[in-house]
Amino acid sequence: AETWNAVPLAPPDSIFKLTASYKEDTFPQKINLGVGAYRDNDNKPWVLPVVKKATEILLNDPTIDHEYLPITGLPEYTGAAAKLILGEDSPALAEGRVTSVQTISGTGANHLGALFLSRFYEFNGEKKAYLSDPTWVNHFAIFKNVQVEPVTYPYYDPKTIGLAYQPFIDTLKSAPERSVFLLHACAHNPTGVDPTREQWGQIADVILAKGHYAFFDCAYQGFASGDLDRDAWAVREFVKRGVPLLVCQSFAKNAGLYGERVGALHIVAPTQETAQRVKSQLSVLQRSEISNPPAHGARLVSLILNDKKLFEEWKRDIETMAGRIIEMRKELHKLLTEELKTPGNWDHIVNQIGMFSFTGISSEASQALTEKAHVYLTTNGRISMAGLNTHNIRYFAESLDKVVR
Ligand code: PLP
Repeated sequence: AETWNAVPLAPPDSIFKLTASYKEDTFPQKINLGVGAYRDNDNKPWVLPVVKKATEILLNDPTIDHEYLPITGLPEYTGAAAKLILGEDSPALAEGRVTSVQTISGTGANHLGALFLSRFYEFNGEKKAYLSDPTWVNHFAIFKNVQVEPVTYPYYDPKTIGLAYQPFIDTLKSAPERSVFLLHACAHNPTGVDPTREQWGQIADVILAKGHYAFFDCAYQGFASGDLDRDAWAVREFVKRGVPLLVCQSFAKNAGLYGERVGALHIVAPTQETAQRVKSQLSVLQRSEISNPPAHGARLVSLILNDKKLFEEWKRDIETMAGRIIEMRKELHKLLTEELKTPGNWDHIVNQIGMFSFTGISSEASQALTEKAHVYLTTNGRISMAGLNTHNIRYFAESLDKVVR
């Protein structure tokens, strides 16, 4: 038989396919609300001014060479990244019980975290990870790849277009002890629905009582509220309460470094000695997979995090992005409710958090938006708020109004 005869044709990735269809479309008012990348008010990718400055500094630094980084990454970067998510005053950091490894952005952090659990976590019976229903679709493939079976817990209630809080808590309670629960640290993708602080507290209580493990994915720190500390609240609260956890961190969205693949995996261990053993095994895994992580993006982020002035500037850039998204939420809500008097309740548009909004429209309505109005979005009705701007928001609101009326 011919080589590769048995290889079945896989379907293209739905998000990347959406972008390709958008690019081919010649309709002048077309809108892409599929992709999870920030766009400025002119629908252009935005290179953060602070990143331009950091790039300039690197370019003029005569000490920069192209040697390998250590296996676990650039120490100035991973150390500062850990402080950013866990907090300057984190007791876990002070006690030296956090292991941080530089990864291929958030996806790589999820992979390495899942792989580490697959190898070393003492699962109670079958190897399973509980993912929110719905979640970032890649989570399923990432866990399957490392022989951990993804199962889901209730998260989103289509009736309220909000959190399915009670069913979520009930599943935490009924799951076998020491189960692994993946939690979105903030700005839940795809729903834009986050638990309140009070709800987080109760979620932590049950996780602690059941001895579960919290697998935090944090891809949008700063994007939810515009404030880095506020968006890290849940993770820090869980650490404070002693919940066993890890955090996957990405600088793709909040630093606009999508292509540089800058991320980190932080595992909070019970003791410093345990953290060292964990790190030794993460190094072994990392070595066989990527040998060592890429240098450029980590150097940029390290400069920004470790320089007071650049850090302050970065925070202003994040506010610019989050602020524009929040403005678009308000404007869309106003257009639908006040001007167009679109049937239904649209308060979730302003209540949801982060880059995405779950509109609550049917998959037929989503498809009609694409086919009739040239508005590209995933069929689950999720829209990237970053794809809206002052030039296209009225056209979008009118098109949405038409398909739900
Ligand atoms: N986790 C979630 C929830 C995401 O939405 C994303 C990106 O869309 C990622 C992780 C990983 O992104 P990256 O690998 O670009 O950092």
